Amino acid sequence: MASTGTRLRRLAGIATVAATAAACTSLTPSVASSDRGGRPARDAVRRRIVDPNAAVPPRAVQESVLVGASSANPLDILVIGGGATGSGVALDAATRGLRVGLVEREDFSSGTSSRSTKLIHGGVRYLEKAVFNLDYGQLKLVFHALEERKQVIDNAPHLCHALPCMTPCFNWFEVVYFWMGLKLYDLVAGARLLHLSRYYSAQESVELFPTLARKGKDRVLKGTVVYYDGQMNDSRLNVGLACTAALAGAAVVNYAEVVSFLKDEVSERIIGARIRDNLSGQEFDTYAKVVVNAAGPFCDSVRKMAKADAPPMICPSSGVHIVLPDYYSPEGMGLIVPKTKDGRVVFMLPWLGRTVAGTTDSNTAITMLPEPHEDEIQFILGAICDYLNVKVRRTDVLSAWSGIRPLAVDPSAKNTESISRDHVVCEDYPGLVTITGGKWTTYRSMAEDAVNSAIRSGKLKPANECITDNLRLVGGEGWDPASFTVLAQQYVRMKRTYGGKVVPGVMDTAAAKHLSRAYGTFAERVAAIAQDEGLGKRLAHGYPFLEAEVAYCARFEYCESAVDFIARRSRLAFLDTDAASRALPRVIEILATEHQWDKSRKKQEEQKAKEFLETFKSLRNAQFHDGKHQ
Ligand SMILES: Cc1cc2nc3c(=O)[nH]c(=O)nc-3n(C[C@H](O)[C@H](O)[C@H](O)COP(=O)(O)OP(=O)(O)OC[C@H]3O[C@@H](n4cnc5c(N)ncnc54)[C@H](O)[C@@H]3O)c2cc1C
Repeated sequence: MASTGTRLRRLAGIATVAATAAACTSLTPSVASSDRGGRPARDAVRRRIVDPNAAVPPRAVQESVLVGASSANPLDILVIGGGATGSGVALDAATRGLRVGLVEREDFSSGTSSRSTKLIHGGVRYLEKAVFNLDYGQLKLVFHALEERKQVIDNAPHLCHALPCMTPCFNWFEVVYFWMGLKLYDLVAGARLLHLSRYYSAQESVELFPTLARKGKDRVLKGTVVYYDGQMNDSRLNVGLACTAALAGAAVVNYAEVVSFLKDEVSERIIGARIRDNLSGQEFDTYAKVVVNAAGPFCDSVRKMAKADAPPMICPSSGVHIVLPDYYSPEGMGLIVPKTKDGRVVFMLPWLGRTVAGTTDSNTAITMLPEPHEDEIQFILGAICDYLNVKVRRTDVLSAWSGIRPLAVDPSAKNTESISRDHVVCEDYPGLVTITGGKWTTYRSMAEDAVNSAIRSGKLKPANECITDNLRLVGGEGWDPASFTVLAQQYVRMKRTYGGKVVPGVMDTAAAKHLSRAYGTFAERVAAIAQDEGLGKRLAHGYPFLEAEVAYCARFEYCESAVDFIARRSRLAFLDTDAASRALPRVIEILATEHQWDKSRKKQEEQKAKEFLETFKSLRNAQFHDGKHQ
C-alpha cells in the first residue's frame, strides 16, 4: 500500500492533470465533427452501403479482380491481413476512391482481432500514467483513444455499446483515488463522454452486482466507483469492416495468402505479390503500386519476405480469457480490478449472455492457433475468486481462448527500449508500408495513417480525403436499439419439428434481439430466410443463433468454412465449446448446401472444426448432456 506522502502526491497529480485537461478539452476539436471535404464521396459510398438490396460481390469475382491486376494496370493498394487493421485500411482506401485489394490467408478476424477483451477503451490507463508522470504525451493518447472510442461506437451502433464497469474499493483512500481519477476521465472525455462515473456504497454495489463479495480475507468492501467504456462484438465488427470495404469497391478475399513479393528488376521496389488461394491451392500474381502490411503479429514474417534480415519489430505477448456462465456477472455491469495482490488487472464482463474473465500477459511464440495453458486458466479463476461470493469452479468454464498482442517497436526509432501500445507506421522497404501495434479501438485512425503513408509512397491520387470518421458500417445506418421489436412482431421463424414437419414458431425476443444486434438493419434479411426457407431452428440449446444465419453468412459475409461460422460469424466457439460442437453437424449441412460441398469436404470440415475447438480447451470445459451439467 502506498505511503501517505505518495498518496498525496498522486492526488496532487490528478489535480494538475485536471487543470490541463480542462484547458485542452476546450481546445481539442472533435475530428468527427469536422467535415474534411468528403461529403459527396461519403454520400455516394453511404448510398451503396445502405442499399437494402446491397450484396458483396462473390469471392470468385473478388479474386478475379486481383488476378486481373497487371504490372501495366496495377491496383493502387494491396493490403495483407484481414484483421481489424487491414480491413480498416481497405475501407479507408476504397472510400478515398482508390483501387484496393485485400488478402487474408485464413478468415477475416481469424487472428488477434477475434480474440480481444472486446472493450473499446477510452485510454483510462494512459490517464493514470499522464497523472503520475505529468506526461502530456500520455494525455494526448487519452484524447485520441476517447475520440476513436466515440467513432467506433457511432459507426457500428448495433455491434457496440457503452458498458458500465465497477471498480471495488477496500479502503477510503481507494474510494477517493478512483473517484477522482474517474471523474478526471469524465472531464477529459468532454463531449465524447458515454455516461458520468459515480460512487456507490457497499450496499448499493452488491445490489447492482450480487456476486461481488462484501468481505474478503483481510478486508471489507467500502464501496465501488462505476465508470463507462465501450464493448463490442469484435469479429462481427471485423467482418462488417471487410464487407463494408467490399461494398465500397475493395476486392477483399479471405483464404488468400501472400507467399512472396514481386519486385521491380531495376529499382527493387515491391510491385506486387504472389498469392496462394488456400481453398483451391492455386497460385497467381497480383500487382499494386503500394503494398500495406497489416499482418498483426505476423508482420515481421511478411517484412522478411521483402528483406531477409529485416530487424524484428513485434514483441509478442499472449493474453488468455475464459468464459463463465451468465450468473457470474449481472447483465449490463462489468467488474474491473485495476490491481490485484500481484499487481495485475483482472475483470469480469458480461458478453453475449455469458461472462468473460481475464486476462494474462505472458511471453509467447507467434502462431495462428495460440492455446491457453491450464495454469493461465487457473490463474484467472484464482484471481476473480478473491472478489466473488460465488464458488468459482474449473467445471464452470465454458470456453477459453488465447490471443497474441502485436506490441510494436518502430525499427527506425532511436530509442528501442520503448515498447509502445500505440501504433507504428513505417516503410522500411520501398513499396511496403507496415502498420502494426495500436489497439482495436484505434483501428480507424491507424488505417488513416497507413493510407496517408501509402499515398505518399506510391504518389497515389485519391479522389477525396479520409471519410471514415463518420461512415456507418454495413447494417449500422438507420439501426436503433428498438429495431428488434419489428422482427419480433413481423416475423415467425419456420422451424422443423423433430418429426420433420415444418411449423411456424414465434420469433422470440431473445432471437430478435440477437439478430438485430448482430446484423443491424440487415437482420430482416436473416429473419426472412428463417421464415421463408424453413431455417428457423436454433443451432444450440440455450443460444439464440438460428440456422438461417449460416445460410445468410455464406451468401453475404464470405463464410467459407464451418470454423468461420462457429468462431467468427456467430460466437459459439468463444461462448461455449460444447454448444459449438453440438451445433457443428447442422452448420456443416447448411454450408454444404450453400457451397455444394461433397462428402469428403464435409468430413474435412468436421475434423478441422474439432481440432480448432481443442485449442479452446474444449475437453476440460463444462459439458451438458440432456440439460444436465456433467
Ligand atoms: C488478449 C488481448 C486482449 C485485447 N483486448 C483489447 C481490447 O479490449 N480493446 C482493444 O482496443 N484492443 C485489444 N487488444 C488489441 C487488439 O486486439 C489488436 O491490437 C488488434 O486486434 C490487432 O489487429 P490486426 O489486424 O493488426 O492483427 P490481426 O487481427 O492478428 O490480423 C492480422 C491478419 O494477418 C493475416 N496474415 C498474416 N500473414 C499473412 C499473409 N502472409 N498473407 C495474408 N494474410 C496474412 C493473419 O491471418 C491475420 O488474420 C487485445 C489484444 C489481445 C491479444
